[in-house]
Amino acid sequence: MLAYKVVMVGDFGVGKTSLVKRYVENSFSEEYLSTIGVSISKKSLENATIMLWDIEGQTEFKPVSKQYLLGSKGFIVVADIHRQNTIDSIKTHIELCHSIVKDAPICIAFNKNDLPNNLAANTVDELYKISDQIINISFTSAKEDVGVNDIFTALNSFVTNSLGH
Ligand code: GDP
Ligand code: MG
Repeated sequence: MLAYKVVMVGDFGVGKTSLVKRYVENSFSEEYLSTIGVSISKKSLENATIMLWDIEGQTEFKPVSKQYLLGSKGFIVVADIHRQNTIDSIKTHIELCHSIVKDAPICIAFNKNDLPNNLAANTVDELYKISDQIINISFTSAKEDVGVNDIFTALNSFVTNSLGH
C-alpha cells in the first residue's frame, strides 16, 4: 500500500492542527494548544495512507524548520480567513515549500469560514496565479466540518494519480 507524506503549513493559529483533528478523528476543540515541533498523524484511505505532518506554525520570530518539509508529496497551506496577514503569508509559504520540494502539489485552505470575513472577491483568482502547482483552493471550517474532506481528497487524487496508483 502506498504511503506518502503531506505537510500542513501556515502561520500560527490558523487551524492546521484543527483541520488534521477534524479529518483524522472527526473532532474539534476550542482550546488552543500550540503545536511544539511536529506531530504526525496517519489517515488510511482506500488507495493510500497519508502521513500528515502537522508542524509548529510560523511566527515573526520563528521560521518553519525546513527539514520538516523534506520528502513531502504535497502541501496544505492554511490561512485564517479573518486575519489578512495570514492570507498575505500564503505566497511565502508556497515559495518555501517549493524551495524544498520542487513541483509538489499545493492545496490552499481558507479556514475558519464559519466566522465573518471580508475577503476581497478576487483573492482566489489572484492566488491561482502564484503557481501552477496549486491544484485546489477551498473554504474550510474545522469547527463546523465544512470542506475539510474535500481538500485532502483533492490532494490524494492528485498524488496517487501522479504516482501511478
Ligand atoms: P494551528 O496553530 O494552525 O495549529 O491552529 P489550531 O488548530 O491550534 O487552531 C487555533 C485556534 O483556532 C484554536 O482555538 C481553534 O479552536 C481555532 N479554530 C481552528 N479552526 C477553526 C475554525 O474552523 N473555526 C473557528 N471558529 N475556530 C477555529
Ligand atoms: Mg498547531
